[in-house]
Amino acid sequence: MSDTEANWSGPSPMKKRTRPERKIFGAWRVASWMALGLLSQACLLNSAPAPPSHPYVLALGTAQDGGLPQIACHRPCCERVRKDPTQARMVTSLLLVDPHSNQRWLMDAGPDLPNQVQLADQIAPRPSSLGRPPLFDGILLTHAHMGHILGLLHLGRESYGAESQRVICTPSVASFLRDEAPWSLLVTAGHIEIQELRPNTTLKLNDRLRVELIEVPHRGEFSDTVAIRVEGPRGAVLYLPDIDKWTRWDRDLAAELSRVKLAFLDATFFGPDELPGRSMSEVPHPFVVETMQQLEHLSAQEKSKVRLIHLNHTNPLHDPDSGARAEVHRAGFGLAIQGQPLGLDGTSWD
Ligand SMILES: [Zn+2]
Ligand SMILES: [Zn+2]
Ligand SMILES: [Zn+2]
Repeated sequence: MSDTEANWSGPSPMKKRTRPERKIFGAWRVASWMALGLLSQACLLNSAPAPPSHPYVLALGTAQDGGLPQIACHRPCCERVRKDPTQARMVTSLLLVDPHSNQRWLMDAGPDLPNQVQLADQIAPRPSSLGRPPLFDGILLTHAHMGHILGLLHLGRESYGAESQRVICTPSVASFLRDEAPWSLLVTAGHIEIQELRPNTTLKLNDRLRVELIEVPHRGEFSDTVAIRVEGPRGAVLYLPDIDKWTRWDRDLAAELSRVKLAFLDATFFGPDELPGRSMSEVPHPFVVETMQQLEHLSAQEKSKVRLIHLNHTNPLHDPDSGARAEVHRAGFGLAIQGQPLGLDGTSWD
């Protein structure tokens, strides 16, 4: 990642760090810089930095389900990345870490899961043990589209062969996983253990952390869709990678933003006309320009909570030099950065 990209991440909404904290965060920043290049290059960090002491989240990927570059795309959006693999981005996923209890949870398990586990191990390693213990204290799923559940297949007997990996999802997603092969084998063979959580109800993860699944409208070919709200001792974070349109939601985006310190929001497409040859009504998402318009009346502090995520390969925001990036930055919003840890109070560790 370039410094340009770091600058475009938007202003840090919360307070400044103390000197020792800054030292730790400096190490993290270096680590995340390196981590960005590793996944396309298959070279990993040599050592993990010292972790902070409070719960935090970290984007393990920022691209839409198809990733960046995307299959068979020979347009400049993907050719640019093939020429410079440090610009590649993995599919959207968020890691939640509680350093105090040495626990970690994953939100969404897409096709890049193997590399994302490697990145998570660099940043928040689990104690080594025999057998094939669960890789996370829980995997929370937003819905059953490929970019959000394909990675679960790596937990099966053809690959990791996990022992009872806990998966937390809505009853609708649970039914899909139980009924549809090849996911059904994960269940019957005991590789995953499903814990159902109804939309709009909360679950205590540990003494410090609670999660709530919030129903959102999104193409429901296979399952319903939820956003995930994480609440911790210092603040709350909203993870909302897929939604059809803000106007179809029974909640008010600005009101939801006011309840959290950070919000990772669906930014699949920057604007209309981004998919030549395909109708964008087949894949409805709020355009970034619409999201910015919807929130333009808010204070700079509120806007700075936004971290745009789930970017389609065609989205010009992937390009650090694009005018779109400049526009988002000028408007006071931020981009999710792969590998960048952020405290639940919204503190960035730059
Ligand atoms: Zn998606
Ligand atoms: Zn492309
Ligand atoms: Zn989806």
